[in-house]
Amino acid sequence: MRLVFFGPPGAGKGTQARLLKERFHLHHISTGDLLRTAIRENTPVGQQARAYIEAGELVPDDIVNRIVMEALEAIGCDNFILDGYPRTIFQAKTLDTFLEGFSKPLQVVISLEVRDEVIVARLSRRRVNKLTGENYHLDFNPPPPDVPPELIIQREDDRPEVIRQRLEAYKKRTEPLKVYYRKKGILREINGEGTIEEVFERILRVLKEEGLIVLPSEK
Ligand code: AMP
Repeated sequence: MRLVFFGPPGAGKGTQARLLKERFHLHHISTGDLLRTAIRENTPVGQQARAYIEAGELVPDDIVNRIVMEALEAIGCDNFILDGYPRTIFQAKTLDTFLEGFSKPLQVVISLEVRDEVIVARLSRRRVNKLTGENYHLDFNPPPPDVPPELIIQREDDRPEVIRQRLEAYKKRTEPLKVYYRKKGILREINGEGTIEEVFERILRVLKEEGLIVLPSEK
């Protein structure tokens, strides 16, 4: 399966990608996670990306394209979920050309549709495990009691002023990609509001309709 989870920050892409990865043994490639790791390890990519991320702006295409192509090549360009990539038309075109080179084009782009007010509410209550990158929501999906509290942090870019900037970047540069993928006939829009389980069920339904999975009861 070769798929993209698409949507604004806080749409649930990372949460849903982790669930799907567990269930179907897929590779989860999150550019946000890769960039945050690079920053933590203070690599050249991390040094270049830091200021953009802290400001809620997109990291330049050439940096992001490079880390994604490397990650895809390392896993043989199949059985992956891309999360947070592509975010610009140039990234989308680069990805298409790259995957076509391996005769492994994208099969589906799942867009998680969530209203702005829900996004802001979600992101301001989001916390992450700084070691594993796992996401929590203080009200709906609180960190389990066995995780040491000092590991649970709020992302710097989940502060209200940065959230606004990220949403703006999404609307201006990323949302137009929906037209691109709709024209290609691989865009599937689903309601990203509701519980994690409800959204996951909707995703499974779409993947089944696309013939990408068989649900256990039908085997
Ligand atoms: P995320 O964890 O997906 O919300 O990404 C966090 C931040 O990393 C974004 O606000 C951007 O600054 C940067 N970033 C992640 N993915 C990309 C991408 N595909 N293109 C440009 N910047 C990105």
